Amino acid sequence: MTPTADQVRRAWASLPGMFGAIVLNKHSGLGAVPAQAVAKVLVTLGVMSNEDFLNKTATTLYGAILVPFVPGTIHAYFNLVSQLTTLAHELEHVVQFREHPLGFPFEYLVDSRQRAIAEVDAMKPALLLRHQIEPLKGSPAEVAARYAAKLSTYRCDEDDIETAKSLLTPFVTSVLAGAETSRRYPQVAAILDAMGAA
Ligand SMILES: [Zn+2]
Repeated sequence: MTPTADQVRRAWASLPGMFGAIVLNKHSGLGAVPAQAVAKVLVTLGVMSNEDFLNKTATTLYGAILVPFVPGTIHAYFNLVSQLTTLAHELEHVVQFREHPLGFPFEYLVDSRQRAIAEVDAMKPALLLRHQIEPLKGSPAEVAARYAAKLSTYRCDEDDIETAKSLLTPFVTSVLAGAETSRRYPQVAAILDAMGAA
């Protein structure tokens, strides 16, 4: 099922609050200043390019989700489906920050392997949601490789990408077999609920 602009807007309006998070735009309003500050840190540490940060990725900082798009409005790098999967992904980062408020951001920034592992954990609910909206195409290894390859944007090296692929493959196998349910990922259930599909 293709989500409507309204469903995407509604999901982004209601879900973050349920997880104790707020949404800010990277380009306007209150979000622009922290976005520029975070961009500077990430670019300085060599984690990400300025362009990728400002336009191609969403970023979570504790309880703030910074997005380059306006939810429900199609963006050059985010169609409506990816705006929903991005929500599932970023809410997993909100949980990671909450569980390890000091260790998580530190390890994420300084260690590319830890960064890959944290991203894999956030990719899982996004993958699960994506499969419910639009079935994933290809073998588990192919799907895992496609998702792991996204880590090159995060300055992860070939080894990190291989690690991510091997962590994702069994998960994708289980998603394709219908064995992963959204019960393990409350944000996925809530997004499907907001779409009227759960
Ligand atoms: Zn992420």
